[in-house]
Amino acid sequence: MGRMELVFAEVEERGVQSAEKTVIQAVHKELFIDGKWRASSTGRSLPVEDPSTGEVLCEVADAGVEDGLAALDAAVAAQKDWAAYAPRERGEILRRAYQLLLDRADDLALLMTLEMGKPVAEAKGEITYAAEFFRWFAEEAVRIDGGYATAPNGQGRFLVMRQPVGPCLLITPWNFPMAMGTRKLGPAIAAGCTVVIKPAEQTPLSMLALTDILAEAGLPAGVLNVLTTSDPGPVMEPLIKDGRIRKISFTGSTAVGKILLAQAADKVLRTSMELGGNAPFLVFDDADLDVAVEGAMMAKTRNMGEACTAANRFYVQRGVAQEFGRRLTSRMAELKVGRGTEEGVKIGPLIDNDAIAKVVELVADATAAGAKVLTGGSTVDGPGHFYPPTVLTDVPRDARMGREEIFGPVAPISVFDTEDEVIAAANDTEFGLVSYVFTTNINRALRVSERLEAGMIGLNTGLVSNPAAPFGGVKQSGVGREGGRIGIEEFLEVKYVAVGLS
Ligand code: ADP
Repeated sequence: MGRMELVFAEVEERGVQSAEKTVIQAVHKELFIDGKWRASSTGRSLPVEDPSTGEVLCEVADAGVEDGLAALDAAVAAQKDWAAYAPRERGEILRRAYQLLLDRADDLALLMTLEMGKPVAEAKGEITYAAEFFRWFAEEAVRIDGGYATAPNGQGRFLVMRQPVGPCLLITPWNFPMAMGTRKLGPAIAAGCTVVIKPAEQTPLSMLALTDILAEAGLPAGVLNVLTTSDPGPVMEPLIKDGRIRKISFTGSTAVGKILLAQAADKVLRTSMELGGNAPFLVFDDADLDVAVEGAMMAKTRNMGEACTAANRFYVQRGVAQEFGRRLTSRMAELKVGRGTEEGVKIGPLIDNDAIAKVVELVADATAAGAKVLTGGSTVDGPGHFYPPTVLTDVPRDARMGREEIFGPVAPISVFDTEDEVIAAANDTEFGLVSYVFTTNINRALRVSERLEAGMIGLNTGLVSNPAAPFGGVKQSGVGREGGRIGIEEFLEVKYVAVGLS
């Protein structure tokens, strides 16, 4: 490298580092309660790590029980006025926040990559996706309607109205730090609910940045209250048991979802639960293999496989199994692994050491039972929590990765012969979030879509998430739907007035 090039390289490197520092510095690190940023009553702080280096990026306030109750008080106090706000006004606030998210997409994407690890291009995609929830629910805010009907005996009238459920507790995971926030905040705000929201401890920064945007967009004090904490169980439980919260909307693991459902029972709270998945990915002999491989890449490598919608089990019909495996392997093997800020990186780090340990364990279990490694399969040296894109074949049906979420870039393939056999295998799980089906036969497509036990089907596509569509699962994958026309219903109560006419 010549002298001049070296100088440029140094400048560029410093430029990158200072951009990282700038986006981190710009974020408030405190709790947001009743329209004000304030310190935690515990005096403690919560370190936020960069999963690509293991280094601490910054520290944010670590809320305790007292802060949680202060946030609840603020949400309860603001509820009456917020419910009375003009729906158009609520929609306009969301519309302005939508625009601010897009205007600041580059900085927000970098911030997300730093705390969560995904490649910057994907993080930017998530900012757009996240913003779309605000646009969608800005439009839905003015479409909350009711009904008027004549009683069957002709003598009375029925009046049906929809009202906000009341103050809500929203809890979000680390894998989509912005979109899981807007997916809950959009409909809650549109419906006229006030909220306390708690982002995951690994990724609080995106939510704190979003809080600033909503305040700037004109959200009144008390409508949004944000808690960051290292101690979610003890801080959340008193809010849930208090009785003034009327609804919990949670996205996260099935294990924590069950705890929250049990806690919610005490005061009979409304609940929406987006929990774990174990998505089967079915490729029939009559599939368009180009489309199937493209779909597989999307469903497996998006977010490094750290998505509840990630394809977890590939079932490929015998006639195309070898060819599908060969093509998927060659695509997976060429993916660049590295820090999400680096040019061309497609696979960033997993979130932490536990995530790596889980993937290592599942791969070891499968290979011990006879699975063959087509690519990947071994850990990458640190720093950072990296795992290479991996394809396994001949994976026995009873391997642990057939039952547990891998949450990493590992694609296990097994072969099937008949439609009945593969549907039985696909449905043999307590989960039911999404299933993927690849076939060009319309009869088979509809037949299989009807028989799969899942809340969503990706038919010849590896991506189902869309703000305008109802996202959610059946069985232990959850309760309720987010997005689409139905999304706002989760935050509305139906009230019926029996009208006596004389
Ligand atoms: P993951 O295993 O993907 O980290 P979790 O279900 O543990 O998923 O976390 C999802 C969200 O639930 C996070 O915001 C986390 O802080 C929160 N959480 C974890 N445990 C509890 C709990 N006992 N009560 C309330 N929230 C919790």
